[in-house]
Amino acid sequence: MTGGSSPSAPAVTNQDLVEKLISDKTLITPRIINAFKAVDRKDFVLPEDQGRAYEDRPLSIGYAATISQPTTIAIMLEKLFEKGDGVSKILEIGTGSGYLTALLAKIIDETGQIFSIEYIPELKEFAEANLKKYNFRNVSLFVGDGKEGLKEYAPFDKIVSSASGDEIPKAWKSQLKIGGTVVAPVGDNLVVLDKLSKRKFKENKISGFIFVPLK
Ligand code: SAH
Repeated sequence: MTGGSSPSAPAVTNQDLVEKLISDKTLITPRIINAFKAVDRKDFVLPEDQGRAYEDRPLSIGYAATISQPTTIAIMLEKLFEKGDGVSKILEIGTGSGYLTALLAKIIDETGQIFSIEYIPELKEFAEANLKKYNFRNVSLFVGDGKEGLKEYAPFDKIVSSASGDEIPKAWKSQLKIGGTVVAPVGDNLVVLDKLSKRKFKENKISGFIFVPLK
């Protein structure tokens, strides 16, 4: 997200970061707040960025990728879970550091599965190593082109992407359950797409973001 300069002191702990997101009114839902408290962003940044882990900004993780800005992730999660729980399968595109993957895994607990696809094998390994610190049993990581989705595990209740394309790929629309939601960047907008019936979708756009492009 652009802008984002805060008049308050820089966050020095994960708790400070969470409190900033709550006082900004970016984080609202208790379940999502608890996930942000349980997942320490320091576990997902490069060693040289440990001192900046709690700043509300994206940080490079190599390979032209970034760990997303916490505000952006918080907005995406609030939109993704706006219609509540009862989630069994979530598809994530663009695993990157695994930070959003970990938050998703915490939010849905052991009641469902996260399937996450990353294009760059080295980043999938980075995410794997980061996620090991948490012992999640509901996360599966894949290397591949996320634009194709993951047909063998479809349909999904929710699909979330951290990489931006020109449009929402057809595969995601068809691999989404009716009643399900896609949250994904298209250009510099964040799109929230609800599947109303097999061919009917409702789209909302939130502007003002910068995302890593979809390859
Ligand atoms: N939420 C992640 C964001 C990582 S940046 C985090 O906070 O760490 C976006 C990621 O999308 C990058 O790792 C990039 O390599 C990946 N990506 C780009 N195009 C992709 C594609 N077609 N399929 C899967 N992953 C892709």
